[in-house]
Amino acid sequence: MVADCLFCKIVAGEIGGKVIYDNDAVMAFEDLNPKAPTHVLVIPKKHLPDIGELGTDPQTATAVVAGVGAVAAELGLQSYRTVFNTGPGAGQTVFHVHAHVLAGRSLTWPPG
Ligand code: 5GP
Ligand code: ZN
Repeated sequence: MVADCLFCKIVAGEIGGKVIYDNDAVMAFEDLNPKAPTHVLVIPKKHLPDIGELGTDPQTATAVVAGVGAVAAELGLQSYRTVFNTGPGAGQTVFHVHAHVLAGRSLTWPPG
């Protein structure tokens, strides 16, 4: 756990949130400020700051991708978008890597 990391605090149970999926390696919970009717964040329990660092840890990377699939299965999602914002210029505000899973409305392409 990294001090002052919001998502490490969620993993530790210090901050609540509606959990959608949980296993040894990952947690998925509803976003506090949803951008779509379904907006779930999938995070590794291990602190890694962004997708670049996640890519150096194939076991954890696989667990996060599998977690996205588990959320889709749990919620019965047929169509959804998965986003990793990386760096402040791309809108990353929490530097503990997370996959956004968005669904439940029309998702245009290209994204803004
Ligand atoms: P980012 O901007 O880093 O890609 O995504 C961070 C996400 O975390 C945002 O969508 C934001 O709404 C969400 N978020 C921020 N604080 C909390 C919190 O305390 N609980 C939950 N469940 N989500 C949060
Ligand atoms: Zn963290």
